[in-house]
Amino acid sequence: MSDRHSDVRGAHGFETVAIHAGNTPDPTTGAVVPAIYQVSTYKQDGVGGLRGGYEYSRSGNPTRTALEENLAALEGGRRGLAFASGLAAEDCLLRTLLAPGDHLVIPDDAYGGTFRLISKVVARWGVDYTVADTSDPAAVRDALTDRTKAIWVETPSNPLLGVSDIAALAGVARAAGVRLVVDNTFASPYLQQPLALGADVVVHSTTKYMGGHSDVVGGALVVSDQELADELAYHQNAMGAVAGPFDSWLVLRGIKTLAVRMDRHSANAERIVEMLSGHPKVTKVLYPGLAEHPGHEVAAKQMRSFGGMVSFQVAGGEEEAVAVCDRTEVFTLGESLGGVESLIEHPGRMTHASVAGSQLEVPSDLVRLSVGIENADDLLADLQQALG
Ligand SMILES: *Cc1c(COP(=O)(O)O)cnc(C)c1O
Repeated sequence: MSDRHSDVRGAHGFETVAIHAGNTPDPTTGAVVPAIYQVSTYKQDGVGGLRGGYEYSRSGNPTRTALEENLAALEGGRRGLAFASGLAAEDCLLRTLLAPGDHLVIPDDAYGGTFRLISKVVARWGVDYTVADTSDPAAVRDALTDRTKAIWVETPSNPLLGVSDIAALAGVARAAGVRLVVDNTFASPYLQQPLALGADVVVHSTTKYMGGHSDVVGGALVVSDQELADELAYHQNAMGAVAGPFDSWLVLRGIKTLAVRMDRHSANAERIVEMLSGHPKVTKVLYPGLAEHPGHEVAAKQMRSFGGMVSFQVAGGEEEAVAVCDRTEVFTLGESLGGVESLIEHPGRMTHASVAGSQLEVPSDLVRLSVGIENADDLLADLQQALG
């Protein structure tokens, strides 16, 4: 099955692959959209006589297979695996790659839940980690020990929009014989292709841009190496946090418009960044598309455009940052990101409250935007009135 879709990948552009990979018309009805196989078990034709390899929906489900084939094709990998959430995908990956005594290098800016999983859950099983500035490949190299099994990186990072050079880090990882994991949630495969740049594993919260409509929670892993793919698939089934059929279907549907959505997210974000950069109440704008961003050149090299996530710091400190979040009307105050609707949040008190007091603590005057695909003038006007 996957070979046919890798042919689709080889011969066609991203938008075509997004719409067709995994989306084979149903052989009996011709339905152009995969069915939601809301089923737990499958009739066997005699003991062990499985149809298409399906025996139980934790181990495999046709709707999930459609999504997994699509994910593999989009990231240019050999195997995609869909999970119940981004954190479920991360948990499966961490427990597949690491055993007690092993060591991990993690970024100094990351999704709060990723840091919580590593520092509070995985660390209890005897895995230890070093926090490093992953925008500096030399700092990552210095953080490696003889027990290191993987380097974890998020680029652009959440919420500070830091940029790490995937190809350079892949070089560091290869030289040390460790694996490079890239959380590609902020960029999506349309803007950035980590496997092609040398990464070993791509992680996604499909809750965000892949689903794209704030109506599903999901996660994914994509890999190129067959042995690692088999180990991950074994653990996915053994641990059981799989994506359900309806959730898989929603993500697969969302992905069909990923390219056009990402183009608009990026275009709207660029207009907002321009306005914020000239606003007297804004002390700093964090966006990889800005020429003065320290990771701008690397981002320009490894990303198609700079995406829809923008963070900024507000004059007047924490109280004023919180007040701006309270005053928007088109931007909805809420956690999460990557949906068609614009969201605003205060990372220090919301998404990143769990990293307070750690090396990953975020500035208290920081506001994070997930710029949606509404009319850009409406978004600009809303932020201007909220800034006062
Ligand atoms: C949201 C998010 C996650 C976690 O995904 P869930 O689907 O919420 O479990 C991981 N990484 C990044 C960058 C995220 O934004």
